[in-house]
Amino acid sequence: MHPQLLPTYHSNFSGSPLIAFAPGRINLIGEHTDYQEGFVFPAAVKQGIWVAIQKNDIRSCRLISADFGQEFSFDLDSFTPKKGHWANYAMGMCALMKQSGYEVKGFDMVIGGNIPVGSGLSSSAALSVGIGTAISALFDFDIPKKNLALYAQKSEHLYAGVKCGIMDPYASAFGREGKALLLDCRSNTHQEIPVHLGNYSLILVNSKVKHSLADSAYNKRREACEESVRLLQANYPEIITLRDLSISDLGKIEEILPKSFFPKAKHVITECDRVHEAAKALQSGDLITFGRLLDASHTSLSQDFEVSCPELDFLAQIATSMPEVLGSRMMGGGFGGCTINLVRTDFLEKFKSHIQIGYEKRFLKSPEFIPVEVFEGARML
Ligand code: ADP
Ligand code: MG
Repeated sequence: MHPQLLPTYHSNFSGSPLIAFAPGRINLIGEHTDYQEGFVFPAAVKQGIWVAIQKNDIRSCRLISADFGQEFSFDLDSFTPKKGHWANYAMGMCALMKQSGYEVKGFDMVIGGNIPVGSGLSSSAALSVGIGTAISALFDFDIPKKNLALYAQKSEHLYAGVKCGIMDPYASAFGREGKALLLDCRSNTHQEIPVHLGNYSLILVNSKVKHSLADSAYNKRREACEESVRLLQANYPEIITLRDLSISDLGKIEEILPKSFFPKAKHVITECDRVHEAAKALQSGDLITFGRLLDASHTSLSQDFEVSCPELDFLAQIATSMPEVLGSRMMGGGFGGCTINLVRTDFLEKFKSHIQIGYEKRFLKSPEFIPVEVFEGARML
């Protein structure tokens, strides 16, 4: 529990609040496949956002961020987003619930979390899903998890200006302890896959790099995939996205697509295949194969899809050079952020010190280590 949440609530508001929690997420494998309606493999983690909430009898919502030490109020009948503000996530969720016919009334809310912002664990999705879970419980709306995830996604599009996929809020909403979610981004449905890591642990290494390139490169990659689909439809009239193609089509696809597009399409097609292979490997407890798939995902993202950067390549390469590390890859959109690593648990301290020393020497800055465990999704406490 967040230490400041209840003290902040009680020193500002009356009554005893309900408490919701929504976690951040990792993505085991399946990067840049979501917008081609492909497959991703996320899981919720222990870190997350707590939301304390209670009704008030005014038509306005009073919010406090325990972490930022800031207050914000908005009127339920007329509110407008404020560029870059954390309260947008609350206004966005309220707006979408109201549009769907839920009668949201005034509430007092305190928010606090322990997800490092912008580190790749998707604090914004946890915040939206946490707020949605809290409001739904407070007013007995009983909103289905999938709708909460869809509101959270739409809220980010409309109110935060980020064109994100469904994966992050979906994983925050549907996560299960010890289970990863094999999520089909066409049907928005998932299958739970048990994650038994035995003597191994997952740890993220944050490169602390944020490239301004990320947004424009993301749009370019998206367009390259869409244009590839248009070109391929002459020979494959039945396809809607690259997800509809398989590895056995690659030879023919290479003949059709221009040299600049083929590797991008190849990444999406092979990455969807790796997601299924990774799920199979986890199901049969084959961590070695699972780790190799992580490595292959990194190579594909770096060389074919070209969304890595020297820092991420360095982190993945130094990690995979250690026999105690079964796999390592960049996680997220790329050009910065974290790598996800599968490391033998008794080697974790040595892993950290090798990476720290190597990274500091090469890039003159320290990486950040974030241990993660596959845990339960959003819930009322
Ligand atoms: P991430 O990759 O972590 O999702 P984003 O930039 O998408 O990064 O979202 C981060 C934003 O979410 C913050 O700028 C803030 O507005 C909001 N946020 C995250 N954590 C908290 C928190 N603990 N309290 C209030 N707002 C938060
Ligand atoms: Mg985010």
